Amino acid sequence: MPELYDLTLEAARELLLKREVKVEELVLASLERIRVTEPQVSACLATREEEALELARDMDREGPAPEKILWGLPLSAKDVFCLPGTPTTAGSRMLENYRPTFEATVLTKLREAGAIIVCKTNLDEFAMGSTTEFSAYKPTRNPWNLARVPGGSSGGAAAGVAARQVPGGLGTDTGGSIRQPAAFCGCVGLKPSYGRVSRYGIVAYGSSLDQAGPLTRTVADAGRILSAISGPDGKDSTCSNLPVPDFVNLASRDPRALTLGLPPEFWDGEFDPAVREALDRALAELRDAGVTLKSVSLPRVPYGVATYYILASAEASTNLARYDGVRYGFRASESSELAGLYRDSRSKGLGQEAQRRILLGTFVLSSGYYDAYYKKAAQIRRLIQEDFVKAFGEADFILAPVSSIPPWPFGAFTEDPLTQYQLDVMTVPLNLAGCPGLSLPVGLGADGLPVGVQLWGPSFGEQGLLEAGSLLEKIFPPLPAPPLK
Ligand code: GLN
Repeated sequence: MPELYDLTLEAARELLLKREVKVEELVLASLERIRVTEPQVSACLATREEEALELARDMDREGPAPEKILWGLPLSAKDVFCLPGTPTTAGSRMLENYRPTFEATVLTKLREAGAIIVCKTNLDEFAMGSTTEFSAYKPTRNPWNLARVPGGSSGGAAAGVAARQVPGGLGTDTGGSIRQPAAFCGCVGLKPSYGRVSRYGIVAYGSSLDQAGPLTRTVADAGRILSAISGPDGKDSTCSNLPVPDFVNLASRDPRALTLGLPPEFWDGEFDPAVREALDRALAELRDAGVTLKSVSLPRVPYGVATYYILASAEASTNLARYDGVRYGFRASESSELAGLYRDSRSKGLGQEAQRRILLGTFVLSSGYYDAYYKKAAQIRRLIQEDFVKAFGEADFILAPVSSIPPWPFGAFTEDPLTQYQLDVMTVPLNLAGCPGLSLPVGLGADGLPVGVQLWGPSFGEQGLLEAGSLLEKIFPPLPAPPLK
């Protein structure tokens, strides 16, 4: 039998239901793996040993509950999901001492499905970033090369899954924060359609873009978690009432009946040679398997980065206004007058990147600039959405790269934030369109670092997307464990 920490969710579930493995053993294996690998990867902000083990022992006592699709399975949660009794910092000093009194709906749903949250994972402050370097606490390292970033903002979730700390984790994706770290760490990441999953109890970044979703090692495991967290929620009016299809028992698809659209706006661009080589190899393998690949243009996606950074920053500036040192969060104690208290609390409690986005967001929303920036961006967003609708008339799914370059060394873009923003060009359009996307590894590049692709589907088309993803996974099998000590 493989090591317990090396099991996928599906494999662990089988053993649990047959009572060949105890829930407690599985949770202990995960906690031990965290202890061993954490000095190298730094994926976690907090572990929940006592709570997790207590829950595990109760479950073992009561015996298997097969109707619960995640029964007894250990998972991680990015530190933006409110969990009563556990710190929820959003990677910020501002929320260092915050202990929520309520639970994010997605965590309630995971709990009801039988999952056990063993740790909270690291992220860029308020989910703003692509490297996890903007965490106020520590950077997370890429398990494939500890000198490189794991991607972000859900870098802790991705590194933890790749390092086998947990078989699955929950992240959030506002502009790529599930799909890009999944690709950088060589795991599977799914951003659901906007409205598929409740946002209640998730620390907000860009409310019209944010969506929670799974990071796992296999497509089937991603479908299992998505099944558990999807569905209507009376506490989030943007969460859809549409019925939730079965994401666990997926139909198998014939590669010869699959047409993937390749946007030339991405594929014809410039790539790092190692990434390009891995992507070209992947395209050749897809063609060999009988998949039809055709060029399908998304003419407005080149405006995606500008549009996204205006809209996301605008929404962030209003969402983060609540952290004023009075109602919420860190308070700078020196100030004796109100304006000074606000200024000091926000200057000291928020990091540089969060402040940059608040400034940008406040600027594009201010009178005199609103029409030129915010309104224009909202209009372009609509045009990008139209591009997607048209594209899905020409192909079943869109196939896109995730990043044009491999995971980069720490600090590479510290002095050049705009270049780092530009690197989001292949992930942000999907959030603007509100459609679902699945990122999965296609192998390792010549540099030994994982390379991923993403499949995009029409809004609320997650079932077909997962089916197509399972087909791709047969062609590009999940990666082995990274070479950690
Ligand atoms: N990298 C993007 C940003 O910095 C995406 C972040 C996210 O999806 N949360 O905003």
